[in-house]
Amino acid sequence: MARKLPRKDVVVIGLGWTGSIIANELCDEGLDVVALERGPWRDTATDFNIGYAPDELRYNVRQELMLRPAQETVTARNNADQTALPMRHFGSFHPGNGVGGAGVHWAGITWRFSPADFRLRSHYTERYGAQSIPEDMTIQDWGLTYEDMEPYYDRFEYLAGVSGKAGNLNGQMQEGGNPFEGARQREYPNPPMMQTYGPTLFAETAAKMGYKPFPIPSSLLSRTYTNPLGVTMGQCTFCGFCTNYGCANYSKASAQTTVLPVLMRKSNFELRTLCEVLKVNLDSSGKKATGVTYIDTSGNEYEQPADLVILCAFMLDNVRLMLLSGIGTPYDHRAGTGTLGRNFCYQMANQVVGFFDPAKYNFNNFIGGGATGMAIDEFNNDNFDHGPLGFLGGGSTRCAPIGAEPISRRPTPPGSPTWGSGWKKAVRDSYLSNLSVGCEASSYANRGNFLDLDPTYTDRLGRPLMRITFDFPENDLKMSDYVTRKVAEIVRAMGAQQIDENPRTGHWSVVPYQSTHVVGGTAMGMDPSTSVVNPYLQSWDVPNVFTVGANVFPQNSGYNPTGTVGALAFRAADAIRSRYLKSPGPLVHA
Ligand SMILES: Cc1cc2nc3c(=O)[nH]c(=O)nc-3n(C[C@H](O)[C@H](O)[C@H](O)COP(=O)(O)OP(=O)(O)OC[C@H]3O[C@@H](n4cnc5c(N)ncnc54)[C@H](O)[C@@H]3O)c2cc1C
Repeated sequence: MARKLPRKDVVVIGLGWTGSIIANELCDEGLDVVALERGPWRDTATDFNIGYAPDELRYNVRQELMLRPAQETVTARNNADQTALPMRHFGSFHPGNGVGGAGVHWAGITWRFSPADFRLRSHYTERYGAQSIPEDMTIQDWGLTYEDMEPYYDRFEYLAGVSGKAGNLNGQMQEGGNPFEGARQREYPNPPMMQTYGPTLFAETAAKMGYKPFPIPSSLLSRTYTNPLGVTMGQCTFCGFCTNYGCANYSKASAQTTVLPVLMRKSNFELRTLCEVLKVNLDSSGKKATGVTYIDTSGNEYEQPADLVILCAFMLDNVRLMLLSGIGTPYDHRAGTGTLGRNFCYQMANQVVGFFDPAKYNFNNFIGGGATGMAIDEFNNDNFDHGPLGFLGGGSTRCAPIGAEPISRRPTPPGSPTWGSGWKKAVRDSYLSNLSVGCEASSYANRGNFLDLDPTYTDRLGRPLMRITFDFPENDLKMSDYVTRKVAEIVRAMGAQQIDENPRTGHWSVVPYQSTHVVGGTAMGMDPSTSVVNPYLQSWDVPNVFTVGANVFPQNSGYNPTGTVGALAFRAADAIRSRYLKSPGPLVHA
């Protein structure tokens, strides 16, 4: 029997990037906010101390900052005819657990999506005709425009202190920035990161080939910076331990280094850690949330009444909580009905590794950071003519040396022995003279890719696990093949003697890490028959429930998601503050 607690104005589920931003904004509105976080408290001084933060075995191999599968996992299969099996080790993606969420161990690459992304179906229809979109490709418009998003991108970038170079300032193109980006109202808050030799060579070569290289927008800081909340971060030292690690240096933007020092001091904010929300409670009409039920680590259950429920859990958890709570109509892929769980997408990520002459090239790859490096966007999204190509989409191409941890990053040239002294020699010979150029590419929605509750497997509390049904659609495989060959051309022109080219082929596998850029399941949009939330991220069915995270993306772009996730958090908070609180109920798109 759950113990009923005193009412709060707002309950926020999950305290990662989105939960922290929303909680802080709503506290500023004077609301009484409680955040319930499944994992433990984490802060830089105690949890990411420089003495042990770069411990590869502890954090990268044994995944100490991440969700343990014994606590919660998912089942996965490639298509609806298969039986899904549980993931017993998080390989393909790495969900966070604890204050800061996956934003603690993210890499920090911080993009804006392109203007065309937000009206994707309309864009492709206008440029290539409706027949260019395959029948099973369920891409759709977001119900808002890039211009609607711009002020909120700006807020997230200034909160995080993003280091970069504008390519388009109020419509004026800027030398050295991304020529394909949408217009931005002002420069990045900080100048670009310094570049090491690898990205410098990549940029010089790309420029000679006629491309327009620019610095990767980075939430690792190029200089000391104080954000609009008054929180100060330090300059990145290129230690190379960002991805899968907490930053010991206060240099990587996260909830810890940007929002929490302010939020935790607010008297109208309360955080309860090690508290996992089990479901959102609805009244007898099923159209109003009354609060949430959660469990703590001693197994005690609580009911937390609240006027407003905001789901800011990891995107898979947001979708699962809505399914478990009966908010929205589950998607039926055979009938094509329902929306909840529909349009689950991933990110096509490819790496081309070049092996250079060790006598001439020394890239010192261990000097790096998750979001340092140079990029080109010529093969991203619809920046190139897809007319003759037979696929849609593309990816951002980058040379980003994220570090060279000794256990996990030891590429060897094709044909090298895979064990013994021959392998050791190949590792030694190529450690300093290999260079990766990657392409993080779009993933377009397909009728057969979706999320639902598993009929067989349950978690430790007896609740059905989230089931992922996903495979790479033919469109995305063709796109991956094309962009990977373009990347390989550049690596060859840089002077590589040998190349390990890895276009994505075959079926999606849960085993190797690909990215934690899983999206969709509660798509946003203007039409309730194809979306779960409106453009303010408010549930169409239960208007006092909002959900923020990559679960609201209708499909994925050729960029990493968090810049857009952060901007959406600010936009949803703004809509709640300026409109919902004045007149609680469904928000009409202005
Ligand atoms: C290794 C790695 C590298 C990445 N690099 C990049 C990058 O370079 N660029 C980029 O754009 N993105 C990157 N990402 C993705 C980025 O981390 C996420 O987009 C971002 O963290 C999402 O923020 P969020 O607030 O939506 O969710 P999360 O960060 O996942 O936070 C959600 C929180 O909710 C909690 N929670 C979940 N369920 C419950 C529940 N039932 N009850 C209570 N609490 C719950 C979780 O414990 C978690 O703390 C990376 C991710 C990883 C793992």
